[in-house]
Amino acid sequence: MAEAQRLDGRECAAALDQKTAARAAALTEKGVQPHLAVVIVGDDPASHVYVRSKVKACERLGLISTHVERPATTTQEELEAIVDGLNADATVHGILVQSPLPAHLDEGAITDRIDPAKDVDGFHPVNLGRLVQGRTDGLLPCTPSGVMEMLRWAKVPLQGQRAVVLGRSRIVGMPMALLLAARGADATVTVVHSRTEDVADRCREADVIVAAVGRPDMVQADWVKPGATVVDVGINRVDDDSRERGWRLAGDVHPDVSGVAAWLSPVPGGVGPMTIAMLMANTVRAAEGLQ
Ligand code: NDP
Repeated sequence: MAEAQRLDGRECAAALDQKTAARAAALTEKGVQPHLAVVIVGDDPASHVYVRSKVKACERLGLISTHVERPATTTQEELEAIVDGLNADATVHGILVQSPLPAHLDEGAITDRIDPAKDVDGFHPVNLGRLVQGRTDGLLPCTPSGVMEMLRWAKVPLQGQRAVVLGRSRIVGMPMALLLAARGADATVTVVHSRTEDVADRCREADVIVAAVGRPDMVQADWVKPGATVVDVGINRVDDDSRERGWRLAGDVHPDVSGVAAWLSPVPGGVGPMTIAMLMANTVRAAEGLQ
């Protein structure tokens, strides 16, 4: 069987970035340059890499970025005061507090504190609540909305199709299922999680699989219906002595799925670039005041 077509996140993100940059330029011309504030607490190396790539994306697309860095010893009150200051700053349109926060900090309370109109991560209860109500025109969580953008870009049919979402997290799985089932997308969605029996059988029924479990190579080739579309959200570090650095990056989908699926998103270069592109688009949207 032929190899699956590549759901190329880099290409799709580049197409979206062009539109985002044009919208940012139009706003800047009117005197409102979109501005993203990224707050990072502590020294988690992966988080610093993510934050750097977000700041770089702002530079590339003509957005202002403010990078607030605080030590791991920062208290809840101090972090809340930073969020309050950014909420009150009319020149800031988007606020992102990089996850994970050090264990002594209450991440949920910080999410709730961000002004929903500046919540470019889309995790505030107001924004998730709008999504539950079927209102998909607001600030949507970046990873699942990036997956939807990829599916539109590849013209993957969704209406009346069976979709299986593996994972039910607040940031990926649940909003992903809601977006696929929303009016306009119109897929019939099954959510699979760690208590689901017969995960493989559920996957075999699917026309579209979105895997967001954090288990390297979990989705096997014989779980996938020939011709299905498979989106791999997983980013997992796997020990690998054959690599100089001692590890490799693996998705949640086994590479052999490429021999069965019609479309497959690569890791890296799939959903990851889309997440950042949607963050930029959300920031411009917040600056446009479309909430
Ligand atoms: P979470 O750990 O929050 O959620 C994982 C979900 O998978 C849970 O709902 C869990 O079920 C379910 N699950 C775990 N094991 C199994 C199993 N054996 N069978 C069925 N379901 C299972 O992870 P996230 O949603 O935050 O992230 C998922 C993956 O996506 C990770 O690899 C993460 O790194 C990656 N990611 C990638 C992003 C990107 O930009 N590309 C952005 C965000 C995440 P239960 O609820 O029952 O525990």
